[in-house]
Amino acid sequence: RSPSLNDPENGRVRVAVRLRPRTAEDLVSDADFSDCVEIQPELKKLKLRKNNWSSEAYRFDEVFSGGASQRRIYEVVAKPVVESVLDGYNGTIMAYGQTGTGKTYTLGRLGEDDASERGIMVRALEDMIANTSAASDNLEISYLQLYMESVQDLLAPEKINIPIAEDPKTGEVSAPGASVVGIQNLDQFLQVLKVGESNRHAANTKMNTESSRSHAILMINVRRSVQGNEENDTSTIRKDGRNDLSNSHAIPTVRRSKLLIVDLAGSERLDKSGSEGHTAEETKFINLSLSSLGKCINALAENSPHIPTRDSKLTRLLRDSFGGSARTSLIITIGPSSRHHAETTSTIMFGQRAM
Ligand code: ADP
Ligand code: MG
Repeated sequence: RSPSLNDPENGRVRVAVRLRPRTAEDLVSDADFSDCVEIQPELKKLKLRKNNWSSEAYRFDEVFSGGASQRRIYEVVAKPVVESVLDGYNGTIMAYGQTGTGKTYTLGRLGEDDASERGIMVRALEDMIANTSAASDNLEISYLQLYMESVQDLLAPEKINIPIAEDPKTGEVSAPGASVVGIQNLDQFLQVLKVGESNRHAANTKMNTESSRSHAILMINVRRSVQGNEENDTSTIRKDGRNDLSNSHAIPTVRRSKLLIVDLAGSERLDKSGSEGHTAEETKFINLSLSSLGKCINALAENSPHIPTRDSKLTRLLRDSFGGSARTSLIITIGPSSRHHAETTSTIMFGQRAM
């Protein structure tokens, strides 16, 4: 396995659907117990029921039932991206869906009492720690929240207007001023993640908002020492995959790459603006970031030469980590309940834009 610029999986957004099991709440509030979707994991298809019992089938890269384990989701959806990042490419793993469908469970679950419950963030770091050398490699994280087009530091909550910078030469995107924490072991990472979660909670209480209205972005920077001039060396490739041969004769010693794990704001207000108590302002910004993400995903799927990443802070932050040589996985989370038929339909349609 040797990912390269020619790897057809790079630059393409792979889309997996994860159906959450019925919760107790679904069971009390559902008038009837019929599911609005039927999944066929072996066919990688999902059938969406329409009003008159007819249904329409959609194909994805992967379709997971409510019974799929956290481990399996990681292995199939996230691990290929993590491996590619360890090989020197940037990558992104995102979860998109209505609030309550399992985005945070899938990405951010700590699993302190039961390691089998661990989500993608913890498993990714576990893999990265196991596959790098403490002596010669370096793992650093930042943990950000994006709320109403303002980048906030979840590890230092007083920092609330962090700029987004882009290196004009390499295309590398960064958030200068955000806290950067070196990670040595998994316990330490779990502690940092917990601090981030509690700051996220506190910040949202103070602003009188819900975490479902902001995006949480875990940024993992990897620096690895490279022996001599490896054949598949990527350090002279612009991070956004756009060609730059000006450095092609340098013999690199350090290879840098980045993984973004993004727990997106709940997608519900795309349809029902204002109906769940969101301010018009919040609705506007969430619509802006999610719809501009949709446009970029669409442009990538159509092999468009122009990916419109400048329209929102979310897509500006993602700019060097999707498309080009980067590997991207999008996890679409849905619930089974018929009462969310409209939301589920629009979520599925968002995922289809990448296919
Ligand atoms: P979101 O982040 O999309 O708002 P959450 O991750 O908070 O949703 O999930 C909502 C609830 O459903 C939580 O109580 C969570 O533990 C539960 N849940 C989500 N996905 C699963 C799953 N695959 N298996 C079991 N419980 C789940
Ligand atoms: Mg959540």
